[in-house]
Amino acid sequence: MSARTDTDYTRSFAGVPGAQAGAVLEIDLAALAANYQVLSRRAGTAECAAVVKGDAYGLGADQVGPLLARLGCRTFFVAHVGEGIALRQSLRQTVGQDHDRAEIYVLHGILPGTEEDFLAHGLIPVLNTLEQLDLWARKSRAQISPTGASGAGASGTGALAAALHLDTGMNRLGLSADDAMALAAAPARLAGIDLRFLISHLACADQPGHAMNPEQRQLFDRLRAALPPAPASLANSSAIFLGSDYHYDLVRPGVALYGVNPTPAQANPMREVVRLWGKIIQVREIDTPQCVGYGATHRATGPRRIATVPVGYADGYLRSLSGQGMGRLAGISVPVVGRVSMDLITLDVTEAPLDAAHPGALVELIGGGGETIDAVAGRAGTIGYEIMTALGRRYHRRYLDATAAAGTEAVGDV
Ligand SMILES: *Cc1c(COP(=O)(O)O)cnc(C)c1O
Repeated sequence: MSARTDTDYTRSFAGVPGAQAGAVLEIDLAALAANYQVLSRRAGTAECAAVVKGDAYGLGADQVGPLLARLGCRTFFVAHVGEGIALRQSLRQTVGQDHDRAEIYVLHGILPGTEEDFLAHGLIPVLNTLEQLDLWARKSRAQISPTGASGAGASGTGALAAALHLDTGMNRLGLSADDAMALAAAPARLAGIDLRFLISHLACADQPGHAMNPEQRQLFDRLRAALPPAPASLANSSAIFLGSDYHYDLVRPGVALYGVNPTPAQANPMREVVRLWGKIIQVREIDTPQCVGYGATHRATGPRRIATVPVGYADGYLRSLSGQGMGRLAGISVPVVGRVSMDLITLDVTEAPLDAAHPGALVELIGGGGETIDAVAGRAGTIGYEIMTALGRRYHRRYLDATAAAGTEAVGDV
């Protein structure tokens, strides 16, 4: 009989509040901190911001934001104003007085009626249209000079900060090239605005050879040349690896911080941040030909052992992993067989040691020596981003302490 190789995992969860949980999501904050440092170094002289939209890609912005702030990250990007308010509050609670040094940019910009939210929580809109620019500029000029006497041209104390998003080819958010040139011809529209950044966003940064990359960069340069000077920002995670031409003054990594490979054609330069284990709740021996799961899509033709694990599509274990997913039990690959249901998956554990597959044993579903998050995404027919942001709320979340990593972690060459 082989040794019970699952006992190490079992022991490592003993005594934690999640001991009774059906699945454990481990978030390695030390690896996340190391990833921030790798990206900062990669960015050379450019400042390294952090994109923490989507609750830090599902990992918890209330954990990730303060961690990165303590590591020296000063600039954060969120999508929604509500995310910005929540981030400001968690920074205030955890980082204390210094929280106000953190600049929080709201990528979706500003809608009429939300101006006071931006002011009250010290949020900076990324202005995406001329209408948003006019709205914020009016607000700013009214602040600087409530009587309207000397608003125009003001740029110092009291001017409201903003970034301006130039759309260079995605046709999603930001000023079109025509709008940018219209603004260049009427720069007084910017009066009252403290223009912190001109930004744009690449459509194909994860494909280093794609013609869109230099095209977007060149259009970005042309539009910037026509507009009043301001620091520039273009690079998401993948674009950091396109070279220093793409770094400008500030880089905006998101997914790479969280361990997803920003260079899909090459080995992952990032450390793994997310690991997911599901706990076996039942083992079924099949000794005659039988089906497994909804739709009877899987038919066992001989004696097999099927383990049932309480992780399903309601937990972000995507239904497209039906018959495709791969777990690992005691070092042995164990395929997901049959459909992923809402709360459960079934794995064929026949190849695993007999005494490893028992109720309570943990099956690696993401990372930890099993499949990487990128591999899981590939099996699901999607990208790491979607797996990350779908990670369920029913998992017991276990954050590994980051203190060991602060400043000194050996992260290897990238
Ligand atoms: C989401 C986002 C990012 C971060 O992208 P990653 O690919 O996750 O690094 C950067 N900039 C903008 C405008 C974004 O919307």
